[in-house]
Amino acid sequence: MGLKAVWAVARPSATTEAEWDARFSHEPFFRVPFTQALDLVAHRRVYLSGGFAYVPRERLTAIIVARFRAELSRSLVLAAKALPAVLQDERLGPVLGNMSRAYLGAQYGPDGASARAGAGKQVKAADVDRLAGTSFPLCMSGLHRALREHSHLKHGGRMQYGLFLKGIGLGLEEALVFWQAHFTRKMSAEDFVKKYAYNIRHNYGKEGKRADYTPFSCVKIITGTAPGAGEVHGCPYRHWDQTAVRTALLSRGLAPPQVERVMDSVKSRDYQIACRREFEARHGEDSDEVGQHPNGYYSESQRIHAARLTTTTTTTAAAAAAAAGGAAPVPGTSASDGAPAAAMAATEGGVDASDKARAGSAAAAPLRGEGDDDW
Ligand code: SF4
Repeated sequence: MGLKAVWAVARPSATTEAEWDARFSHEPFFRVPFTQALDLVAHRRVYLSGGFAYVPRERLTAIIVARFRAELSRSLVLAAKALPAVLQDERLGPVLGNMSRAYLGAQYGPDGASARAGAGKQVKAADVDRLAGTSFPLCMSGLHRALREHSHLKHGGRMQYGLFLKGIGLGLEEALVFWQAHFTRKMSAEDFVKKYAYNIRHNYGKEGKRADYTPFSCVKIITGTAPGAGEVHGCPYRHWDQTAVRTALLSRGLAPPQVERVMDSVKSRDYQIACRREFEARHGEDSDEVGQHPNGYYSESQRIHAARLTTTTTTTAAAAAAAAGGAAPVPGTSASDGAPAAAMAATEGGVDASDKARAGSAAAAPLRGEGDDDW
């Protein structure tokens, strides 16, 4: 059988003979042992001759996938056999033991944060309430709420929340102001300094071994020690009961169908996917950075807020300029004065006003729960 006959066998049923002939003159095909193309042979999608299959380039993927699967399977069997011996090795054992908990994504210390969108800005203690309402993931807004309610967090919560705040740009001095302001509602400033200031400076590498600690990743939080009585650290999707999660999601402005979508992931124990769905519901878009790291959630949220603020400012300024063309300006005001203020109102807490302004615009989908409360 000649090459044309080979191609006739390989022709997909959706392709006409004329189309196939047109491609035949310049499409290569590959001759491989038929045992490497069993799937194609089983479906009669290749020409066979002398123990070889003649495979068109567009069907080569099936062979590569089969080969990869076979190699992976063989390697996994070998790895499983070698594992007990390797785990005995004091150098490799701990590395392998921690591998499933390792976080390989972006780091969010003051240095890592400065390279990321929405981060690198210095955050003031006075900004935290507002940011908790707009851009914190559920784990951190839960900690913030508990801190406000009880004027205290236990060690696990202080570590998780304190390092997160460090990662969003709260410097040491502002961190001391922030924690002192909350804790001294129930204790004297002297007690605060004596019991807690050291730990805060320690987190910033100013005490003890002076390590520059970085914020916890989602995997670390989810697989870490579960919160005990009186503790509120951890991942809500993993560690809270489902009723509490549902209530919190509704408080953050999610509609009931959106809540159910998140809860489906919680029930199937896909906690990081649940976080991502919650983010999508609140921000109107998904992001690969979310569900990996709480600071990734924050920086993505800030990026989206900043982009929408710019869009809204530009739109409002253009509308004001157009209006100014047909009407005299109100004394004491100007388009440039009014636009940013209107934009800020639309973006920060002015949910009703902004919903009207944004209606029908995908670029300006409503940001749920902004300023509603501090969940
Ligand atoms: Fe926080 Fe990560 Fe859990 Fe989201 S998935 S709530 S960011 S720990």
